[in-house]
Amino acid sequence: MSTAAKGTVIEDYKLEEFLRCPYRYVKRQGAGPSAKAEVNWMQLAQLAVSHVVNAFYMTPEKERSKLSIPDMLEQWWTNKVTKFESPEHYWSIKQQLINGLNPLLMTELSSVPMIVFEQHQVFVPELQVELTQIFQLVLGSESGEPSDYIVRKYIVDEEEDIITLFQHLTAVFCFSAFGRLPVRIEVLPVLTGNLRIVYPTKETLEQSQDYMRLAASLMQEAASEPGQQLRKVQGSAECSRCPFLEECVSPAAEAEAIMM
Ligand code: SF4
Repeated sequence: MSTAAKGTVIEDYKLEEFLRCPYRYVKRQGAGPSAKAEVNWMQLAQLAVSHVVNAFYMTPEKERSKLSIPDMLEQWWTNKVTKFESPEHYWSIKQQLINGLNPLLMTELSSVPMIVFEQHQVFVPELQVELTQIFQLVLGSESGEPSDYIVRKYIVDEEEDIITLFQHLTAVFCFSAFGRLPVRIEVLPVLTGNLRIVYPTKETLEQSQDYMRLAASLMQEAASEPGQQLRKVQGSAECSRCPFLEECVSPAAEAEAIMM
């Protein structure tokens, strides 16, 4: 396994896009501005959720109980109905987000965030790369040391590979940037409420570093061999909302599809 070149910067959102489909990631790099700006319904829904979460936690604790989640979502909800599977799907997702956000946020009326939607960058000596990560939310821990903290993310797309990436990336980033692991890393899927929590330790940090070393290496190889990228298995959820679906070459005709 090759190691990352010195001076390499890896941005969390690019790594996420790469892991969703390496072939699409490389294809998008060389695409025109309209293809680069193409978004699917999950990204539009995530954008609205992120705005609501940001507005909620930026509101002083005493005033949060007056907030209306439906009104807040309305403010940032997309009007691009055609990006959804159907008009019914568009309205259904909106209602599901309201139903999901209400209990997730209204139990946080007194939470005091340390970080709300900030991008940070750090050099990770173990990987010899600069990592950048956008933190939705970092909260103080309700128990333990004053320097204990929790990293939290509210998500729409519940893809396991992307959740795993977030957990490993967060552990590696936080240890280098803050000199201390978070006591918990929480992922809160708004549509299902299927909460994922991990408790990183010194032992799991090594696994996270191995994961990130491999991911960084694969991403660098993608840049040097753009014609050899892996595709998703045809019919995957990722393909169904991909702007390159029609022009994506059949895996049988070219490269093997070996990703799930
Ligand atoms: S259609 Fe599927 S395999 Fe092809 S680029 Fe899009 S996500 Fe990747």
